[in-house]
Amino acid sequence: MADYQRVLLVHYHEIGLKGHNRSTFEKRLQRNLETLLDAYPIAAIHRISGRLVAFLREGTDAQTALDCASFAARVPGVARVSTGYKTPREIGDIEQAALLALADALPFETFKVQARRAHTDFPICSMDMNRRVGAVLCKAFPDKAVKMKEPDVQVGVEVVQNAAYVYAFSMRGIGGLPVGASGKVCCLLSSGIDSPVATWRMARRGARCIGVHFSGRPETSDASEYLVRDIGDVLDRTGCISKIYTIALGSCQREISLYAPPPLRVILYRRLMMKAAQAISVREGCGALVTGESLGQVASQTLDNIRCTDAAVDLPVFRPLIGTDKQDIIEEAQRLGTFELSTQDAPDCCTLFMPRAPETHAKLPAVLEAEARFPVDEWVRELAESADVHVFGARKDAVRR
Ligand code: ATP
Ligand code: MG
Repeated sequence: MADYQRVLLVHYHEIGLKGHNRSTFEKRLQRNLETLLDAYPIAAIHRISGRLVAFLREGTDAQTALDCASFAARVPGVARVSTGYKTPREIGDIEQAALLALADALPFETFKVQARRAHTDFPICSMDMNRRVGAVLCKAFPDKAVKMKEPDVQVGVEVVQNAAYVYAFSMRGIGGLPVGASGKVCCLLSSGIDSPVATWRMARRGARCIGVHFSGRPETSDASEYLVRDIGDVLDRTGCISKIYTIALGSCQREISLYAPPPLRVILYRRLMMKAAQAISVREGCGALVTGESLGQVASQTLDNIRCTDAAVDLPVFRPLIGTDKQDIIEEAQRLGTFELSTQDAPDCCTLFMPRAPETHAKLPAVLEAEARFPVDEWVRELAESADVHVFGARKDAVRR
């Protein structure tokens, strides 16, 4: 049997809906994949009529192709990935490749063929290709049934200008939009379970994410800073974070804990974090702040308190998890690969100088009055200036800046 070049067909949904922006989105996804798949034997990635095709190097085996497809499926913007073959534009080759592709998709019970030709100069129409390829497959797989509605496997045939692509095994991608398509946001990233998930969700919507982490240094160790870096490494694998700024908040917290009414401490820490993150956002050109808060989860996440924290900044504050249940967040963190890290113990600024009874229904005038005792603007300037930055992606990149 002929030896056809292995390819991955990358499908996207939402991008297809974006009208004349479409090619910008496609190019972005193409660039992101080129960068992120650099550990796999990919010779090139091209765009062909509504799909991307990644050409695997000669000699790439089935398992490597599968691993590469699984990886690509986790990249924002990818709705589905299929493994298949590139063939000459000859029906005989297409049939042979369909046999190989369908064998790769085992085990399954039902299948159908779905052919498309981007150019009508190919002499066989799609319907006839469906029938001819289908007949060859039925003969070779006599115990499998053809099913038009929701078959287990769809054998795709795409005939384009100079070649045909034939594929069968498909896996679902995470969907969304390619990172970089939706501007930049600044994510407040603790080493807890929630904020990495919130960051990932924004990246899946195409936002380029900059993290800001506040440690309790010098009042605590720097352990949380390393943990957040490790969490960042996980997000970085699929291009979901560009940088993490680390800011030591301990000294300001000490001041607040000494001179503010104890119940308001947490709100004041929070407002200070928001303001410092906003200062970083200005530097980075971020259009919004993002937190991992979920309504009512802990004392600080009541409507009253959220209102008081939001009032500290001018930028919009996005909370992608606000209506998500903790159990669902945990499962998402497990799928994402951050859960194990997030459940390690590392004191950050949140564990520092906590009052016994934090206010759960803070009123803004009282908060502003308490805050007026501190040189907040000066602190914010100092905090932003003293921030350490870690840039992800040692590889040269399109995804990250
Ligand atoms: P998480 O699991 O994300 O830490 P949480 O359930 O522990 O969230 P809080 O501690 O109230 O809740 O934090 C709420 C949000 O505030 C976090 O999701 C994060 O966006 C931000 N935040 C909290 N602590 C820090 C920190 N040390 N550095 C940066 N952001 C933080
Ligand atoms: Mg936390």
